[in-house]
Amino acid sequence: MTTESNADAPAELLDRARRDYKELTARGLKLDLTRGKPAPEQLDLSEGLLSLPGDRHHAPDGTDVRNYGGLRGLPELREIFSDVLQVPADRLLAAGNSSLELMHDCLVHAFLSVLPGAETRWADQERIAFLCPVPGYDRHFALTERFGIEMIPVPMDDSGPDMDVVERLVAEDPAVKGIWCVPKYSNPNGVVYGDETIARLARMTTAAPDFRIFWDNAYAAHHLTDEPVEIADLSAACAESGNPDRPFVFGSTSKITFAGAGVGFFGSSTANVDWLTANSSKRSIGPDKVNQLRHLLFLRDAEGLRIHMERQRSLLQPKFDTVQRILEAELGGTGLAEWTTPTGGYFVTLEVGEGCAKEVVRRAAEAGIVLTPAGATHPYGDDPRDATIRIAPSFPSLEELEKAMLGLTTCVRLVGYEKRHGN
Ligand code: PMP
Repeated sequence: MTTESNADAPAELLDRARRDYKELTARGLKLDLTRGKPAPEQLDLSEGLLSLPGDRHHAPDGTDVRNYGGLRGLPELREIFSDVLQVPADRLLAAGNSSLELMHDCLVHAFLSVLPGAETRWADQERIAFLCPVPGYDRHFALTERFGIEMIPVPMDDSGPDMDVVERLVAEDPAVKGIWCVPKYSNPNGVVYGDETIARLARMTTAAPDFRIFWDNAYAAHHLTDEPVEIADLSAACAESGNPDRPFVFGSTSKITFAGAGVGFFGSSTANVDWLTANSSKRSIGPDKVNQLRHLLFLRDAEGLRIHMERQRSLLQPKFDTVQRILEAELGGTGLAEWTTPTGGYFVTLEVGEGCAKEVVRRAAEAGIVLTPAGATHPYGDDPRDATIRIAPSFPSLEELEKAMLGLTTCVRLVGYEKRHGN
């Protein structure tokens, strides 16, 4: 997505951008487009959870949810998420309130205990590396960096990571133990992994016997159009290719119900599920099953989940439409930027001219509009082209979003035209 045009912008365009920016800074805005948090109205959709489970304390299978135990989570809740996460319920765990903590734990446990298929722990190996499709999710990168795992960026195209690069790197380097993937409505560029990409991930030859795909399907149910996207079933493809232990599937209700009080899920082969359960049994006597029962009673079944996500969409879609409308009106045809039009998920990626992203973010902050730091979409916070900006439209009201987008596009014009004029 290259954006620079060599055409000289007429001086009036720069003058106008400077005037607009001056007006913008005089407005004393205080707006935040940083994180993909659900808006209060989205959280209101799940208000019913607060009065559940009422006076019930037994799950349908008779489990008393008030007590210890049930490390794998309530079976009926796992059933609801089995289809959407493409993992049979008996190999899907319902855990705590966060999928990120499950990813964290999987990394820690891989360092401290031998993974199925391996002979040594990661802690006993000199070097561990992960492939990081870019642009990607900053918290994935923060996790890998935290544990001293080397991050190797891999470019993405419209159907996922560049598989020629992935296949070469995993085949030649036994230190490459994993890859981060957000396969549906990816964070931040909304990419949906294509069938061929998924088939190649499943069957590729890896030098590491304990290579894992961290399949973070955080936006599996988060459609923004009438045509929900389905992706190929990675777990089934891996099993068919003789690599059943390759995928670690993650998901959560963070952007379905409450972002701070939802339920996280982990799905994989029986060997991996047993490995994680054995490890997590040292860490906890069991998850919060009261919260799980609450979710079960609230969502009821897969159809209940679908209807709930339609309601979420009715709140989110107008915001994504607003982003597209303003980007098109303010930047369309300028050659200053390109952007994604996601069909689901939580983010829009804005690509500004090379060397412009940090400056756009700085100018926006000066005008009271806080954006995710430029570079956050890349390992070590280093976007070599300094061109990618992540837009998170969910949290602000429509009115605030409109102001923030107009402000942001003013900054893009200012920085872009200044650069063209060599200022
Ligand atoms: N994965 C991705 C791709 C995300 O975008 C987010 C939230 N921004 C998370 C995981 C965090 O999930 P959780 O709240 O379940 O920890």
